[in-house]
Amino acid sequence: MPTTRVIDGFAISVEKNPVPQTPEEVFTTIKTFGKQWTPHMFMVDWEAGKGWHDARIVPYQNLSIPPTAPCLHYGQEGFEGMKATRTRDGRIALFDPKANAERFMKTAKEVDMEPVPVDLFIAGLKALLLQERDYIPNDGNLYIRPTEVGMSPFWGAEDTNHCLFYIIVTPAANSSPEPFDALVESIHSRAGPGGTGSAKVGGNYSRLTADKKRAREQFGCADVLYTAADNKELIEEFTVRNFFVEFTEGVVLTPELRDRILPGTTRNKILQLVREKDEKGEKAYEGSYTIEKLRQDLAKGVVKSVFSCGTSVGVQPIGNLVLNTGERIPMPEGTLPKKLFDYFNGLRDGTVEDTHGWMVFLD
Ligand SMILES: *Cc1c(COP(=O)(O)O)cnc(C)c1O
Repeated sequence: MPTTRVIDGFAISVEKNPVPQTPEEVFTTIKTFGKQWTPHMFMVDWEAGKGWHDARIVPYQNLSIPPTAPCLHYGQEGFEGMKATRTRDGRIALFDPKANAERFMKTAKEVDMEPVPVDLFIAGLKALLLQERDYIPNDGNLYIRPTEVGMSPFWGAEDTNHCLFYIIVTPAANSSPEPFDALVESIHSRAGPGGTGSAKVGGNYSRLTADKKRAREQFGCADVLYTAADNKELIEEFTVRNFFVEFTEGVVLTPELRDRILPGTTRNKILQLVREKDEKGEKAYEGSYTIEKLRQDLAKGVVKSVFSCGTSVGVQPIGNLVLNTGERIPMPEGTLPKKLFDYFNGLRDGTVEDTHGWMVFLD
C-alpha cells in the first residue's frame, strides 16, 4: 500500500519499488551518463477541469501515452536540467531550484502546456530526492531531469487538456574543467527568429545528435557552436550550454538572448557575479559577437579565454574552435573558467560560503 508524505503542504503518495537496485548497482554505469536511473520517479497530472492531481512517487517505469498525443507529434514537451549534490558535511544541496522552476513555467507556456507551479515543482523535487537520497554519489552528483509532456488524446488545434509532469534522476560523475574543441556549425541552426530557442523544449534539440556526431566523426570535436539562422558569422551558443568570451581587465561578453538563446541559469549567475564587482558597469556585456570579431580580438591579444557554461558541465574552456574548412583556431587559456568552475563546485559541496542565498539544503 502506498503511504503519504506531506511536503510543503502537498500530499504526495509514495509507492515503493519492490525490487530496487542498490546504489552500488546504479553507480556502476556512472561514467556513461544517463544510462541508469534510480528506482523511483515523481509524477503528477494536470487535466482541464481537475487541475494538478495525484502527486506521487512511484517505481521508475515506462509511460502510457495516447498515440495521438501532441508530445509525440508536435513537440509539446519541455524539460529542465539540474543537479543535487552532497555537501562535505552530508547535506543534500540544490543550486537555486527556483530559477529552474520559473524557467520551466515559461517553457510550458511556449508550447501551450499548463505551467507547473513553482511550489509544486519544488515539493515534487524534494520528495523524490528524499526518497533517493542514498543514490547521490559522494564524488559526483545526482543529475535531475524534470519533464513535462502534452498527453491530450488528440492532436488538433484544440486547447491542451492533459499534461504529465515527471522527474527522473540519474547519478553522474563530476565534470572536468579541461578544455574541449567545438565545431562552429555553419550549416544548421538550433533556433530561428520567432522560434522557441529561448525555451527548453525538445524541438530545439532535434538536430543535436546528428550535429554532434558529425562534429565528432569529421572534426574530432566534443560539441557544436551554433551560429544565427540568418547570419552564420554570428555566434549563439553550444548544443546545451551558453558561450562566453573573457577579455583583458576582467571584461566578459555573452551573446544577447533575443528570442533564440536559452537563458542559462549558469549564464545569469556569471553575469551577476561579474556585475557585482563592477562599479562602473563596464565589465559584463550581452551583445552580438562574430567569428570575424573573435579573430580580430585574438590578433590584438585582448582575448583571455573562451568558455562554455551550463549545469551539466559547469564551466569549461574551449581549446580550439574548428571551422567547416577544417581550420582550427586555438583559444588562449585564461584563468576565469577554472575560477568559476571551482566557485560553483565549492557552493555545491559546501566548501565555499554562499553569500547570495542561492543554495537550498534538504536536511
Ligand atoms: C540547458 C541549456 C543551457 C544551460 O542552462 P543552465 O541553466 O545554465 O544549465 C544553455 N543552452 C541550452 C541550449 C540549454 O539547453
